[in-house]
Amino acid sequence: MAANKQVLLANRPTGWVKESDFRIVETPVPKPGEGQVLIKNSYLSLDPYMRGRMNDARSYAAKVELGEVMTGETVGEVIEGRSATFAKGDWVAGRVGWQQYAVSDGSNLRKIDTNLAPPSAHLGVVGMPGVTAYVGLLDIGQPKAGETVVVSAASGAVGSVVGQIAKLRDCRVVGVAGGKEKCDFVVKELGFDACIDHRAGDLDAALAAAAPKGIDVYFENVGGPLLDAVLLRCNPFARIPLCGMVSQYNATERYGVKNLMMAVGMRIRLQGFIVSDHMQRWPEALRQLGQWVRDGKVKYRESVTEGLENAPRAFIGLLKGENFGKQLVKL
Ligand code: NDP
Repeated sequence: MAANKQVLLANRPTGWVKESDFRIVETPVPKPGEGQVLIKNSYLSLDPYMRGRMNDARSYAAKVELGEVMTGETVGEVIEGRSATFAKGDWVAGRVGWQQYAVSDGSNLRKIDTNLAPPSAHLGVVGMPGVTAYVGLLDIGQPKAGETVVVSAASGAVGSVVGQIAKLRDCRVVGVAGGKEKCDFVVKELGFDACIDHRAGDLDAALAAAAPKGIDVYFENVGGPLLDAVLLRCNPFARIPLCGMVSQYNATERYGVKNLMMAVGMRIRLQGFIVSDHMQRWPEALRQLGQWVRDGKVKYRESVTEGLENAPRAFIGLLKGENFGKQLVKL
């Protein structure tokens, strides 16, 4: 049988992650034991949170050890063995890491319906990023019809779904994305009302123009100066689900928020969340997202890099905004 290509963590980066922080190795394809299955992965998901797992720092999740396979979710097919819940021929999504093959007892897997959406989509719009958008926006952001919702990283895996759900809830939706091409996509393809190019200059003026009635919900994916600009324009009782701050993940010196005092006077609620704390919401979210995708009400876009050996480069690109839609690696 073919060898199992794997990507290991070789160094803990300080500042920007480099390709040399990873090591690519080939090991024998593992054999499933009693109660285990062997999965042949077809796609690896690359996600910004992985940068945090490379650090030896206090976090909600365990770090990846040096020399260990990088953590990550894949979709693939069970090709051998049997567990209590999975058998040969099943398609599964699971946290089995940056590798071509993996053995599992099934506890870290969920079955996916490839008739609902192609396998890759189960790592994006009908997977973890989609559920993040659903829970973060609806449960924490609690948008009401007629309100203005702003979302950063708007063309990305999470942001693109946030904005489309907010449109389905009859909100005015303003995206923030890097560059004209992404902004055009967000407005013309995804149906947002407006999109601000954060690279184009005056954020305060652009937000004032795009959100003339102020901001009721800001779905935070990015952090940095954008959060400060948003805080100045929030309406009383605005909600800010803090989903991520990707602009800070490689920063050696973190951005200091200046306008947090606005949260007092405007009674703004800022709430961080982690999607894996909301497992009870996953079945409903996945069912609803699947329905919306099937009905053409939620669209998605993917950036697909070919070959596991190119995963480190694609991951660095994701953190720099070189992806356009959900970043995947085809194995
Ligand atoms: P995306 O597909 O949105 O890709 C990341 C995007 O971030 C880039 O494309 C880029 O978009 C944007 N970006 C990167 N650097 C900057 C910067 N300095 N300033 C502004 N924008 C920047 O990734 P995801 O949708 O997977 O993740 C989005 C966010 O959601 C991340 O912060 C992630 O950590 C978080 N997340 C949180 C979860 C949770 O449970 N809390 C679960 C899943 C994701 P552009 O070119 O438009 O700037």
